[in-house]
Amino acid sequence: MSSRRILAMQQVINREPLESDRPAEKVSNYYGSDVFGKDAMREFLSEEAYESLQNSISHGTTIERKMADQIAACMKAWAQSKGVTHYTHWFQPLTGTTAEKHDGFFEPIEGGRAIERFSGNQLIQQEPDASSFPSGGIRNTFEARGYTAWDPTSPAFIWGGTLCIPTIFVSYTGEALDYKTPLLKSLHALDKAATDVCQYFDKNVTKVIATLGWEQEYFLIDSALYNIRYDLQQTGRTLFGHASAKGQQLEDHYWGSIPERVVAFMRDFEYECHLLGIPVRTRHNEVAPAQFECAPVYEEANLAVDHNQLLMDVMEKVAIRHKMRVLLHEKPFAGVNGSGKHNNWSLGTNTGKNLLSPGKTPKTNMQFLTFFVNTVKAVYEHADLLRASIASANNDHRLGANEAPPAIMSVFLGAQLSNVLDELEKAVHSGKMSPEEKTALKMSIGRIPDILMDNTDRNRTSPFAFTGNKFEFRAVGSSANCGWPMTVLNAIVAEQLIEFKKEVDALMEKNVEKDEAIFQILKKYITQSKKIRFEGNGYGDEWKAEAKKRGLSNIPTTPPALEAMIDKKSLHLFESMGILNHRELEARYEISLETYTKKIQIESRIIAEMVNNQIIPAALNYQKGLIESVKGMKDIMSAAEFKKYSESQMDLIKEISDRVTLIKNEAVLMTEERKKANNLDSAKKQANAYNEKVKAYFDSIRYNVDKLEAIVDDAQWPLPKYREMLYLR
Ligand code: ADP
Ligand code: MG
Repeated sequence: MSSRRILAMQQVINREPLESDRPAEKVSNYYGSDVFGKDAMREFLSEEAYESLQNSISHGTTIERKMADQIAACMKAWAQSKGVTHYTHWFQPLTGTTAEKHDGFFEPIEGGRAIERFSGNQLIQQEPDASSFPSGGIRNTFEARGYTAWDPTSPAFIWGGTLCIPTIFVSYTGEALDYKTPLLKSLHALDKAATDVCQYFDKNVTKVIATLGWEQEYFLIDSALYNIRYDLQQTGRTLFGHASAKGQQLEDHYWGSIPERVVAFMRDFEYECHLLGIPVRTRHNEVAPAQFECAPVYEEANLAVDHNQLLMDVMEKVAIRHKMRVLLHEKPFAGVNGSGKHNNWSLGTNTGKNLLSPGKTPKTNMQFLTFFVNTVKAVYEHADLLRASIASANNDHRLGANEAPPAIMSVFLGAQLSNVLDELEKAVHSGKMSPEEKTALKMSIGRIPDILMDNTDRNRTSPFAFTGNKFEFRAVGSSANCGWPMTVLNAIVAEQLIEFKKEVDALMEKNVEKDEAIFQILKKYITQSKKIRFEGNGYGDEWKAEAKKRGLSNIPTTPPALEAMIDKKSLHLFESMGILNHRELEARYEISLETYTKKIQIESRIIAEMVNNQIIPAALNYQKGLIESVKGMKDIMSAAEFKKYSESQMDLIKEISDRVTLIKNEAVLMTEERKKANNLDSAKKQANAYNEKVKAYFDSIRYNVDKLEAIVDDAQWPLPKYREMLYLR
């Protein structure tokens, strides 16, 4: 009988390629048509309601109940005009995915009839029984309710035939239980801090937003193969699998010609994205076989995060239509590259200026330098927290695995900007500057735009790199909700800018001239934060040694990395910025630990199941045939012949027995460690035990399973192999 794998492979081979069903039209014809955006608002809202909503979006003003009723009714009318019958508050609980509970618009009325209704109350707030979402102990069962509240800054949209209203999600007592709440607060803090600093340079700046353009990496595999890989289904990654002879070593996949089947998928998910106003624009093959990337045009960070969360959902659904599965896990396959979500981050003003892009005048260049140096300083001060913000069981496979930025936080500036900072450090001194010195300094700053024009310096090994007009936080994991690392980044930069302003103002009060005061503080920051700057190869062992010398942390696994979330510095940061109080932060820390434990626990269980139900039976089955063959040889051969010819088969038989025994014993020991870990009395102890004790068996079990894969008859091996999964026609 053929193995399940052979049957699945036949399905893959016989697949008729699916055509894309994207209409043959230009994107601008339908872009954003499933979004309750400005156009829809103009069409459906009264002037008054439109103004009130726009005001709320730009200035955070509250919308009156009466107005909310009107907006809700119009939203409903718009949605109904598109055949929509249900609505949902759409939020981002700490599970990392999105949550939705659909409700119908209709209400039964007397006479056995029904009408459609959607009130302002229903739009603004819901009280879901949300006791099953992670809360880190914040919510006791007697106050199991949480509530969701409308975020008017992210427009409602129609997805899957349902009107989705982006909301925050908080406990009944007001604590944040989601990613959006702290993100919005961090954006608010950053706006205030950055706008204040902008006043030194430009009084017209009244608002600063963070901008985010994420680059999303992912793998695709055929559904037939995915459906019989329980590890992929349940953990998102392959727990076993012998490396394919041809992996990524020829570097022939990166930016290669995209397989037709994949292009059809890309066209379709991009189409869905464009209907939803998600500006995905770039697509290409990534480094690993079957790995791809998409990237949008950047947007305001809160909207960009919503769009990324939505994109991941869209991709997963559209892939299924194309008989493929999208793998968003950070490391679905060992031995080839994992996937990240590079977060390109910058700051934009209401005057249309990118604060991390130098301008034409010395003044704008000084403004650029101010934000640039303060960001570097913020990363230096809170490197460990930034590291913690991207920590997850999945991402541990990437960081420091010689293909992704290391777990050591550092900042890459490029040679030219490094020079500018070095020059600045030398030129400025604490005493009064002479007019000549000032001119020299201004000249050197004046050169920045030209420097950046031909700044093609790229460093792919840095976790946090300046790329000409933005910073790229490259260590973020592909499946992560990037709202959290963005919250941290916004928070630390906000805190830093407040500190900066305080210091500059203090000097100015002592009659130091403004420009000079700014330079002096910047110089101080440049000196203080030097250690975090690194221009070399982040993958090399030399960097690990060098970083250690510099006193930078290198924490390769999640449980110890998470500690930085709740150290004094972080607690103070989040509280003083009004983003998360101690209780909320500690709850988040607990949840991160629990999530880690559960992920490793599931992996460990799946390893034991697959080993016992699939791998060992396949190996023993193959061995049985060998034994029969040897027995048969004995019957038909002379003793001398038998000795000569049975030897290699006997070796195989013994090797199988050896490996099966090793696997079996280790699986038992692993299960025992799991039991011990489960009995520990704190989330921290459990996570550490899973990290240090349980996970310790994964590699050695896998090693022997992969060796078996290499010797067992191909026709009898039950699991799709790397060479099959990583190959997409
Ligand atoms: P790369 O060379 O890294 O691919 P791109 O210019 O293509 O660089 O940009 C990658 C991402 O960075 C895109 O999503 C892009 O929209 C985004 N990006 C560009 N400018 C900004 C900015 N000012 N703020 C945030 N993201 C930006
Ligand atoms: Mg990039």
